[in-house]
Amino acid sequence: MPPIKKHIAASLERTGKEYKEVHEWIDDPEKKNERHDFTRVLEFAKMFTEKYGEEAAQEYVFHLSDDLKGKFGHVTEDTETAMKSALTYFGSYNR
Ligand SMILES: [Zn+2]
Repeated sequence: MPPIKKHIAASLERTGKEYKEVHEWIDDPEKKNERHDFTRVLEFAKMFTEKYGEEAAQEYVFHLSDDLKGKFGHVTEDTETAMKSALTYFGSYNR
């Protein structure tokens, strides 16, 4: 998952605002798992809308999306490497 600094930079680029409070809240080391839980996205988005406005809620969703891309990006790379290795082992790569 990208560090908070990267999330802040992304928000700044998208909105012109850092939304540091939003990213720090989501990535609180003690509560990281529950705050990245997609099944609670409506509850937390509502909380951000009430506290900081709709744009902050949108940045919360982008934070989750960017973390997801980060996680699956590695899974995809690892899978491709493993597939290439297995196919090379059996002499079937590029045939
Ligand atoms: Zn995160």
